[in-house]
Amino acid sequence: MTVTRFAPSPNGSLHLGHAYSAIVAHDLAKSRGGRFLVRIEDIDGTRSRPSLAEEFRADLAWLGLEWEEVPAQSSRLASYEAAATRLREMGLLYPCRCTRAEIAAAALTKGPDGPVYPGTCRGADDDFAGPVAWRLDVRKALAQSGPLTWIDELAGEQIARPDLAGDVVLVRKEADTPASYHLAVTLDDAADGVSLVTRGMDLFAASHVHRLLQALLGLPVPVWHHHALLLDADGTKLAKRRNSPSLANRRRAGEDGLALATTLREGRLPAGITLSEGLDGTP
Ligand code: GLU
Repeated sequence: MTVTRFAPSPNGSLHLGHAYSAIVAHDLAKSRGGRFLVRIEDIDGTRSRPSLAEEFRADLAWLGLEWEEVPAQSSRLASYEAAATRLREMGLLYPCRCTRAEIAAAALTKGPDGPVYPGTCRGADDDFAGPVAWRLDVRKALAQSGPLTWIDELAGEQIARPDLAGDVVLVRKEADTPASYHLAVTLDDAADGVSLVTRGMDLFAASHVHRLLQALLGLPVPVWHHHALLLDADGTKLAKRRNSPSLANRRRAGEDGLALATTLREGRLPAGITLSEGLDGTP
């Protein structure tokens, strides 16, 4: 059975791009007789605002969506810790104290998500005190897993290249979060039985890392669907931090959410907004 999900982070109000993403995931599940899940990704302790989860539910209902809500990330910390311990025992994590500035200054290559960590702390003694992040030794992990592939419904079969992102952080002690996005989302999708990971194509590169984690942790391998993105008039992705108009404001102003959902489904986008080209080449 097809199980998709929408996994918003409560660090800012949802905007049209989220509405589009939720509708795509919802409709993929419903058109295949499957289930559509919503999971609140609330483990970013510094920016997370719990009251936003309620706002998100109201927004999704306003759009006419029906979903099953699964437990929020904050209630799953033990599973993240257990997985991190396992990876550490497999010798695949190493502690790192480097600051962002140090990494930016030292990084030799730029990856899909910014400067690639140059491996400064790789091989260091793991016995030093104080707050540290734990990074995945990607080359060592790939040597253990062997070559991996994964499938995006739109882009086709991919050879996993987690090495392009470098040694990603999996445990971020200094920010008081027990798991990074990569570790938490991979474990959650497996625990929730998600068979079709549906999200924007801006997260395509992350899926290479997630495929590696699935292999290391013996998790089931879903299929992915990285959909096209809504773009602003200047061609940039709509983003919370750029103050794209929120769904909550539109809802409170009395706009018809069902009508908005219909226009998004039909690709009739509000003025000034366009849809990027998709991974299958369609606009
Ligand atoms: N929580 C992530 C976000 O709001 C999405 C995670 C995902 O879909 O994999 O950007």
